[in-house]
Amino acid sequence: MHIERIWPDTKLRNYHFLVVCEETGDALAVDPWDAEAVLAVARQHGWNITQILNTHHHHDHCDGNARIVEATGARVLAHAGAASIIGKVDVGLADGDSIRIGRSIELECLDTPGHTMSHVCLFAHADKPALFSGDTLFNAGAGNCHNGGDPATLYETFATRIARLPDATTIYPGHEYLVNNLGFTLSREPGNAVALAMKNRLAQTGPLDIPLTTLGEEKHFNSFFRLGNPEIINGLRQQFPDLPENPAPREVFVRLRELRNKW
Ligand SMILES: [Zn+2]
Ligand SMILES: [Zn+2]
Repeated sequence: MHIERIWPDTKLRNYHFLVVCEETGDALAVDPWDAEAVLAVARQHGWNITQILNTHHHHDHCDGNARIVEATGARVLAHAGAASIIGKVDVGLADGDSIRIGRSIELECLDTPGHTMSHVCLFAHADKPALFSGDTLFNAGAGNCHNGGDPATLYETFATRIARLPDATTIYPGHEYLVNNLGFTLSREPGNAVALAMKNRLAQTGPLDIPLTTLGEEKHFNSFFRLGNPEIINGLRQQFPDLPENPAPREVFVRLRELRNKW
């Protein structure tokens, strides 16, 4: 499995991906907004885009569908619950469905509601596991919930789906927010030395040189996985005096998400 990370330089800092079967050159385009950027990369390498996957219905994750379909005849795959909003979806996906690319790749669909209520992440069970996390999980962050989502549902997705994947899973998020999000981590947890060192090291790094992180690494600097951390809880209790001394992880997650909205 080859994964090509594409930077179309959108105002929302989207990443696009091509997941390529190295045996056949067949490729799946993940979350295309800038179709021409994706088509140009495929053309340059001689890859055939046979499928498009939209993790959810937001325009910056599917507005490139029509142009890619026109150029390649690719089939469009999306969460069954988002298909009618996206339009012209060929395959409606449900939890546990598998997507094959060429001869060598099989990806598993995970139903991951929260950012929107019909969102899929794709998990590759390869020797190097990978997760295409759309707007559910970002580097050092979690998706917002103000365009059709729900923070408590997003917590359930983190706790029951994402956090249980292998620590070695490499994360491929829908946007580049790492350095900015590390600022939020440090606002909640000023003593997080890993986050501070990473933020300083990557301050001037371009989007295609931002390192890929694993789920295991995220657990060290992503506040939304650090729900039992005393520094985070103490800080939250200063802002939310009603929060108990030992709050449930869901409660911590929801309050963090609320603070992140205004940060
Ligand atoms: Zn979105
Ligand atoms: Zn997005």
